[in-house]
Amino acid sequence: MITSPSRTLHWFRNDLRLDDNPALACALQNEEVVLVVVLDEHFWDQDRWGHIKTGSFRTRFLLESIDDLKNSIAQLGGSLLVKQGRPQKILPSLMQTWSCNTLTAQAEHTPEEIDIQESVESAVCQVGGVCSWIEGQTLFHPEDIPMKLESLPDTFTQFRKKIEKLSVVRDCISAPKTLCCPKDLISDDVPVLGEFLATFGLTSPTLDSRSVLPFKGGASEARLRLKYYFWEAKRLAVYKKTRNGLLGADYSSKFSPWLAHGCISPRRIASEVYRFERKYEANKSTYWFVFELMWRDYFRFIAMKYGVRIFHRKALKPESASREIRSSAFISWKNGQTKDNFVNANMRELARTGYMSNRGRQNVASYLVHDLGIDWRLGASWFEHMLLDYDPASNTGNWIYIAGVGNDPRPNRKFNTQLQANMYDGKGKYQTLWSTDALELDVR
Ligand SMILES: Cc1cc2nc3c(=O)[nH]c(=O)nc-3n(C[C@H](O)[C@H](O)[C@H](O)COP(=O)(O)OP(=O)(O)OC[C@H]3O[C@@H](n4cnc5c(N)ncnc54)[C@H](O)[C@@H]3O)c2cc1C
Repeated sequence: MITSPSRTLHWFRNDLRLDDNPALACALQNEEVVLVVVLDEHFWDQDRWGHIKTGSFRTRFLLESIDDLKNSIAQLGGSLLVKQGRPQKILPSLMQTWSCNTLTAQAEHTPEEIDIQESVESAVCQVGGVCSWIEGQTLFHPEDIPMKLESLPDTFTQFRKKIEKLSVVRDCISAPKTLCCPKDLISDDVPVLGEFLATFGLTSPTLDSRSVLPFKGGASEARLRLKYYFWEAKRLAVYKKTRNGLLGADYSSKFSPWLAHGCISPRRIASEVYRFERKYEANKSTYWFVFELMWRDYFRFIAMKYGVRIFHRKALKPESASREIRSSAFISWKNGQTKDNFVNANMRELARTGYMSNRGRQNVASYLVHDLGIDWRLGASWFEHMLLDYDPASNTGNWIYIAGVGNDPRPNRKFNTQLQANMYDGKGKYQTLWSTDALELDVR
């Protein structure tokens, strides 16, 4: 008697990689896998502030990442389906077509992503399948956090100290050597960027020569950037001294867009830091790099703990003052046309490249909230639209922290942007670089 092989459908979400991918590793325990990416149209909806959630820079990076994934899968003998629509419709139907009994995917922990997950789960149930949501986003596995989620400390320092003392980072999982997909399964084409963007009323981004990096999506590019930043240029060894920079490719790692799309895992990055420490030296900079990855984790655990609350105006501080929603000042901020040249330079860099340094982000966020008196959620929404590295936990976590409504013991995180400009751009080089461009953005 011929029986059909047992198959799993693996749905790539923000885990667009083969290396150190726990959900994929789980799928590969089965005889055959069907691999799929879904371009969920919901991510190109307009939000309540009128911004299309995923702007053209991040869309480009996403399509490049999918293309790279497809090529890597093909090299291992597999195929990748690329579908467009709602996952709750597409995935159950694929499970039926390809006789899959299980769906595996990376677990997500922010409200919109959880909603999607729940809709998928119930639709998959209806066709008799089961779902496995597997952790893969964080450096420390959520089960290895030495406290219950309800008692997660509300300050990063307390969290970090406990983690450093009591938790270890799990080992990375190697990429598969081969992939066994159904023989009659043929890869889909990745949509053409211009055509895809046009369906949402967006146009292809142009590359500005002032961009800190060309930023190409995909796990292969992530590996190249890591190889360069850690091993060739050895910038990891001086990271703590340079990380507050504003100019050039190398003051910080620029890993964030690849991390946000899951082209590389935080565990893989940390394991390379530890390897660097063994080969050369462990110093303040190598320590600080993992420290920043812990901040990334912390915002994810805060998102898990508080759920939808972090997206509310007063987030974790119900007693805080309300801010306004003033459209003209907000539009000036978006367009880099405020009274503050340092803020303007940073906002122009964001609009032209989809990236802004951490120092820049802190200043423009503080300026919006504390100088212009505008509701932080408008700024966070613009960041969501523009950033290559947008992720809901890091973006919201940082915004509420600076707005003084997050997990920060200090009531006011106002930055003196003039002082900051003097400290970090004393000769005005950064402001000069970004001064020439009076942007006329489509302020949708
Ligand atoms: C208002 C505001 C909004 C932000 N929104 C995002 C966002 O949507 N997505 C995002 O990835 N980061 C966000 N950040 C954090 C930070 O600015 C970026 O992660 C960092 O600038 C990315 O550049 P890099 O990869 O060169 O960082 P590096 O300095 O090289 O740091 C290495 C990695 O550590 C992590 N990291 C560093 N700083 C932070 C931080 N403050 N919070 C969380 N993780 C951190 C990132 O994953 C980063 O790639 C935001 C910060 C602010 C102030």
